Order: sequence, then structure tokens, then C-alpha cells
Amino acid sequence: MPPIGIFGGTFDPIHFGHLRLAEEMAVALGLERVLFIPAGQPPHRDAPRIAAAHRLEMVRRAIAGNPHFAVDGREVQRAQPSYTVESLTALRDELGPEQPLWLLLGADAFLGLASWHRWQRVFELANIAVVTRSGARALQPDAMQEPLKSEVLKRQAADHLMAGHAGSVWFQHMTPLEISATAIRDTLGRQGSVRYLLPDTVLNYIYEHQLYIQT
Ligand code: ATP
Repeated sequence: MPPIGIFGGTFDPIHFGHLRLAEEMAVALGLERVLFIPAGQPPHRDAPRIAAAHRLEMVRRAIAGNPHFAVDGREVQRAQPSYTVESLTALRDELGPEQPLWLLLGADAFLGLASWHRWQRVFELANIAVVTRSGARALQPDAMQEPLKSEVLKRQAADHLMAGHAGSVWFQHMTPLEISATAIRDTLGRQGSVRYLLPDTVLNYIYEHQLYIQT
């Protein structure tokens, strides 16, 4: 049963850093599908700058045409704060106990995991793929990486992990792309250019709806 990736975020707005993360993880983990789940009111951070419906629509436009990417609006449709454990529980019920699920997390998010609502339960519901960037080397101790230097061993370890429905943690390095939604919002607020940091379809939507322009 091919694994499914779950990628939550505020996506305020979605940009090429997010899309590239999903793409590289899909390839590395052999994901059949990556579900993008925009957060409604995330419990761990300030309210997103713009309405959930806009963030959802921008994700929809950004992934259009990629048959391996899908968007799931369940968290933005909730009035209450959205907890990852609740979305994972619902997905587990829908997809069945055998379906391998991989929660894709940036290293920053992984480091804060122990503060999440019912975080231990997350490991029973899904595997966790931690995406490391250039600044996250501390998460990859040599001892852990050493046995996986050979591509064959790496593949075998990956195949073994992929078969499990939950409970594994996989660290995966991705091409560093220094793009952040915060910087995009700030630049738009100064009427600066954010072209080539995010898909044109998303940029057109931002201009059409005059998003992030008012500071
Ligand atoms: P903000 O700047 O508003 O905090 P963000 O893009 O960092 O935005 P989210 O939209 O919540 O935040 O990101 C979802 C996930 O995507 C996070 O786990 C984050 O680590 C990861 N992510 C964000 N930008 C990048 C990037 N350029 N490369 C890789 N991962 C990224």
C-alpha cells in the first residue's frame, strides 16, 4: 500500500519552499499522494494574516495540475483551533489502520512537537518525516547517518520503514530554498517584487484580491 504524505502549514501564502519540500519528500518516501492541509487557527502561533478561504484557494492554485498533490480543507472549515492529532485521527479513520501515513514536518516544527496537543498520540497515528535544511544539522548526528551512507542500505531502511503505518521517524535533507512566507508578506507590504518565489497563479491571486498589500 503506497504511503500518503500529510503536509500541514499556515501557507500564508504558499510558496516554492513548501512545494519543493512536498516534491522532494514524495520522491524520497515514495509517496503516492501529498495532502496539503492549511491550518485554520493554528494553536501555536499568531493568527494568519489573511482569511483561511484565501489561503486554501492559493494552495489549490499552487498544486493544480500535479496529480500527486491534493488539498484538504478540513482544518480551515473548523471554527476551533486545529490540532494535528485530530486531523490525523480523522484521516486514520477514513483511510484504515493499514495505510502508511507520513506527517511531513520542517525541522523547526519537529523541535516544537513536545508542546503539541496529545503529541504522543501522533506517533501512533503516523510516521514522521523531518525535513532538514542547512540550519538544522544538529538534528543529524553522524552516528545516525553513518550506517545509511550506502544508497543500498538507505533504500532498504526506507523500504522497511515505508511498510509501517506509523511510529517511525525519518530525517531527510532537502535542497535549501531560503524562501519564507513572512518575507513574502513583508515584501508585498512594501510593494516589492515576490515574483519567482511562488507560482504565478498564486501571485496573480494575491494581486487580484489585493492581499498582504496593506501593512
Ligand atoms: P511563516 O514565515 O509565516 O512562518 P512558513 O512558510 O515558515 O511561514 P508554514 O506555512 O506554516 O510556515 O510552513 C509549513 C511548513 O513548511 C513548516 O514546517 C516549515 O518548516 C516549512 N517550510 C517553510 N518554508 C520552507 C522552505 N523555504 N523550505 C523548506 N521548508 C519550509
